[in-house]
Amino acid sequence: MDTQPAGGQHPRPTPRVVVGILRAVRGWLIAVTGGVLLFGCYLGVSAETDPGRQLPYFVSGGLGGLALVFLGSALLVADQIDAAAKGRGRLDRQVEELHTLIVAAASVPAPAVTTVADQAAGGQNDGGLFAVPAGRTYHRRSCEMIASKPAQPVDSAQIAARGLTPCTICEPKIAA
Ligand SMILES: [Zn+2]
Repeated sequence: MDTQPAGGQHPRPTPRVVVGILRAVRGWLIAVTGGVLLFGCYLGVSAETDPGRQLPYFVSGGLGGLALVFLGSALLVADQIDAAAKGRGRLDRQVEELHTLIVAAASVPAPAVTTVADQAAGGQNDGGLFAVPAGRTYHRRSCEMIASKPAQPVDSAQIAARGLTPCTICEPKIAA
């Protein structure tokens, strides 16, 4: 509508910059034009003393001016609502990005802590090494051989001191 006026007098599209400026000030332009028309109507009515000749000024200038003032005001309000909506959209995106960052930051340490705990507990052995106090072998925590026995955790130093041998069923490994 802005770039193609009725009648096709200006086939070339208006440059985007001009369109942007017109879009920004059109509400004010229309409202001010309406104000000028109203003022002209007031002058015309003041100059005429015959009520019959005042009527055309009211109809042409007064109603037209009022309509333009209302239209300009509506455009200004619409532009403000549009700008507010754009600002709200930008805020939503920022909150979303922030939320993504927080979730990512919160989820990173958990696996790292688990990995460190696994390594401290004996590498690939799930939950560390265990041995029955009177036993001669050491096991993984999940081994069937110690499932119903009072097994206690042992480290590589205790295994060497007691001369424990690895269980042939669960085949535990001492971390290097
Ligand atoms: Zn075992």
